[in-house]
Order: sequence, then structure tokens, then C-alpha cells
Amino acid sequence: MGRTARLFVVSGPAGVGKGTLVSKVRERRPSIGLPVSATTRKPRPGEIDGVSYHFLSNDEFDARVEAGEFLEWAQVHTNRYGTLKCEVDACLSRGDSVILEIDMQGGQNVRKIYPDAVLIFIDPPSWDVLVQRLRGRGTETEESLSVRLKTAERELALAHTYDVRIVNDDLEEAVCELERTIETFETE
Ligand code: 5GP
Repeated sequence: MGRTARLFVVSGPAGVGKGTLVSKVRERRPSIGLPVSATTRKPRPGEIDGVSYHFLSNDEFDARVEAGEFLEWAQVHTNRYGTLKCEVDACLSRGDSVILEIDMQGGQNVRKIYPDAVLIFIDPPSWDVLVQRLRGRGTETEESLSVRLKTAERELALAHTYDVRIVNDDLEEAVCELERTIETFETE
């Protein structure tokens, strides 16, 4: 059966494990493109510029917005994040699907430009588990934790607007479900 390259958006609250899920799926399907986003956030320990994100100053981010280089960008929590058009187009023109791991504002904006984009929401097993995971990550101050939880509340309330929802309870099961979802839409 033939496959069609599709654009997938994966969103969900901070701490839900989107990053782990997406990287596990890419281990199994390395051809899927995962564009590196740009952000004005400061790197966390261990994050590498150009790999984790393109870390930009506010002025550099403004210049790229001005130059029309973003497919979408949004203010998330207290920083700006954006997807660079050139990275997405490079994958799609090779015939490879693309996963964008972006927030829900970004997801809705991508849908306007690519109406065929498949929007996938990752749910936590429960609110308490989400709070525990986010605390356990140890990268957030109490202030940034509370900002992320407020954003999470808003995102969960809008999750029904997404095409597919996957609960990240058992990681292996969630990875399989994400992989199956991708295959289903590629062969649709
Ligand atoms: P973090 O600071 O934890 O790396 O990411 C915070 C949020 O920014 C996450 O919800 C993530 O999905 C979102 N995000 C990362 N890259 C992009 C992007 O390119 N565009 C948008 N709209 N959101 C992004």
C-alpha cells in the first residue's frame, strides 16, 4: 500500500512526555522529520543549540518573524517558540512525513495553512500524575511550574478540538498508538 507524507502536530501539556514519545517513534521510523524549533527561552542544562532548539535572542527572533521565516510562532508560557518554514518544506519535499511538537495555538495555526495536518493530543493519565511528572523533572522553579500548570488547564479544556487523543500512561503502549496513528493517516 502506498504512503503519503503527512504533517502531524503533537501537542499536550508540559510534562506529559511528548518529547519522549516522539523521539521513540523516530527511533523506529527515522525518516520522519522533526524540525528544530526556534525559541527565546534559555537553554536548560544538557540542551544543545541547533539540536534541542535554535536558541535566539528576542531581537534575532523578531528579525526572523519580520523576514517571514516562520510557518507559525506563538508565545508559550513566558517565551516565544516558532517552527521554521524551511525545515518543514525540506522534509515534505523529500516525501517524508513531519512531526511538529508544538503548543496548541501553533497547532491551530498550522491547520489554517495545512488543512490536511493531523492534530494529535497527548493526555496525561490524570492531573495528579501530570503535576508529579512536572515536579519530578526538576527543571522548573515553583513560578514556572505554576505557569505551566495554568497553560495545561487551558490546553486540556481544548483537547477535544484535536483529531486524535492518546493517553500517555504506559509509555510503550502510547508509542505504539502514536506509530499506528501515523501509519493509518499515511495510508489513508
Ligand atoms: P519547553 O520550554 O518545555 O521546551 O516547551 C514549552 C512548550 O513550547 C511546549 O508545549 C512545546 O510544545 C511548545 N513548543 C516548542 N516548539 C514550538 C514551536 O515551534 N511552536 C509552538 N507554537 N510551540 C512550540
